[in-house]
Formats: sequence, structure tokens, C-alpha cells
Amino acid sequence: MIERISVKTEQRTELRDITENVQHIVDKQNVSEGLLYVYCPHTTAALTVNENCDPAVQTDISNTMSKLVPANSGYTHAEGNADAHVKSSIIGSSKTLFIEKGSICFGTWQGIYLCEFDGPRTREVWVKIIKE
Ligand code: ZN
Repeated sequence: MIERISVKTEQRTELRDITENVQHIVDKQNVSEGLLYVYCPHTTAALTVNENCDPAVQTDISNTMSKLVPANSGYTHAEGNADAHVKSSIIGSSKTLFIEKGSICFGTWQGIYLCEFDGPRTREVWVKIIKE
């Protein structure tokens, strides 16, 4: 079974911490040990695992992506959001994580983030757990 998380974003570019939403699915499925797949089914959003302590890191990632991939750079894509497609491709659409003793295994300062690059929108994140 694939579980779906709905995430409302509020800005064109932002990182949203979805760690608790994903852990909630692990709790609901009562999984002790297993593999966790998290997938973003959008072409202008992505998923990353990064620092969840200092929110300035999320701002820095957003700002740096905007510098690396400018909004206007002679793109041919007629929809006008080519930069968001490029950013989504650079960051990537999925993550695989481990579940141990009922919790997602993270390094000390890590969390899962939906990266919005063409918001505001309502996004989905799909979660699949393979129990051990
Ligand atoms: Zn487009």
C-alpha cells in the first residue's frame, strides 16, 4: 500500500519539514523494522534530507538553488517554470531510509524536506514501507 501525504506550500520556493508526517505513517502501520521509500510525484518539487535544527539552512538551500538556476535564463519551456524543473531534477524525487525500533533512522540533525520550486501549491508525497 502506498500512503499519500498532502503538503500545502505557501511560497514559490521553500523547504517544508515533513519528517513528522512520514513518522506518523510508520507509527500508523506499526512498523518496527524495515525500509522506507519516500517519493515526490511532481516535476517542479523534490525531496531532500538535511538539517532540521537551524532553519537558516533551509533558507540557504533555497537561496543557493535560486542563484545556481536563475528564474530567467533563456529557457525554451513555454510554461515559464523551467528553473523549477531543473531544480527538481538536481535535488531528486525520492529518498530511501531505514526504520529501526519503530523510528526513522536519522543522523542527529537530519529531517526530510519537501522542496517546493514552483509554489504555492498543494503537493503530494508518496510513502511505501517494506517491513522486515
Ligand atoms: Zn513546466
